[in-house]
Amino acid sequence: MPSKDDFRMDEVELPEINTGEILLKGMYYSVDPYMRGRMNDAKSYVAPFEINKPINGSVIGKVVESKSGQFKPGDVVIGHFPWQKKFIAGEKEARKIDTTLAPASYYLGVLGMTGLTAYFGLMHIGKPKAGETVVVSGAAGAVGIVVGQIAKILGCHVVGIAGSEKKIKLLTSEFGFNEALNYKTTPDMKKAIAEACPNGVDVYFDNVGGEISDAVIENIAFHARIPLCGQISLYNSTETPMGPRLQPMLLTRSVLMQGFIIGDFKDRFSEGIQQLAQWVKEGKLKTTETIRQGFENLPEALLGLFKGENTGKMIVEA
Ligand code: NDP
Repeated sequence: MPSKDDFRMDEVELPEINTGEILLKGMYYSVDPYMRGRMNDAKSYVAPFEINKPINGSVIGKVVESKSGQFKPGDVVIGHFPWQKKFIAGEKEARKIDTTLAPASYYLGVLGMTGLTAYFGLMHIGKPKAGETVVVSGAAGAVGIVVGQIAKILGCHVVGIAGSEKKIKLLTSEFGFNEALNYKTTPDMKKAIAEACPNGVDVYFDNVGGEISDAVIENIAFHARIPLCGQISLYNSTETPMGPRLQPMLLTRSVLMQGFIIGDFKDRFSEGIQQLAQWVKEGKLKTTETIRQGFENLPEALLGLFKGENTGKMIVEA
């Protein structure tokens, strides 16, 4: 588990902006579990952070000064930007967002990367049908809370797994989940899932991995689908984690388990955003965010993801 001391704040001079560039002031910064992977010096689908350079990620900023014909001061944009209070971006690196359609922060969550992850992972790998049972772990987080609601829209029996009583109550009372289980206080998760899913689990949207997923997969139904989205319970592991061998269960029940990275679906993002925005507009898809105040609290917000401190998308407002 990283600590606050692994981060450093520096003050630097920004140069003048050049033609084709904009000066931005950060408004909302996304903290995401995948950033933990970028702290390892390992080859992955995204490059590691560089020591002595600012961390970067999804940021929403306001244009302060522009030497680009495409942007004017006051425009609100999203992009992959450094964790700086102010920063310079090339005009190709920024995309304008429409804050009259939805609050700016939604573009980091339900109408952004995490909403799209829920949508494509569930619709294109999980492929749930009405009447089927869908289980989602990390259910009260940014991805999970959208997965569960989409599965409800599609007419499924939805069971969420999360780590506090407050989250469990919220999922069933506010977000329409049929049942929710607290993995921190349930003594026998395998049994509890069997009781909550009497016909077995047709779709398991896996956000966390580890023992929680072992318990769900023991209850997997014939011809089930498992979108393998995240393994947050293992991101701080320093050794190769051991667990039950799952292949016999997948084999004998003809189960499909498929890993995916949201970038796999990049050609279809506009379709996903359109559908998610439609559901939000119709009131079928509710959102919740945990917004931490203060740029200087970025490291703690990131670490808070690994302690379950967020409900819905975790964001820092500068
Ligand atoms: P969340 O908003 O769900 O935040 C993380 C949550 O994970 C915490 O609130 C906590 O909730 C839970 N958690 C933390 N540690 C553990 C643990 N040891 N065991 C079980 N649960 C834990 O994050 P996101 O919705 O952004 O991401 C969810 C998952 O999806 C992550 O694994 C992430 O890496 C993955 N992801 C994958 C993408 C892809 O392209 N494949 C894209 C985006 C995300 P609780 O209180 O319930 O423990």
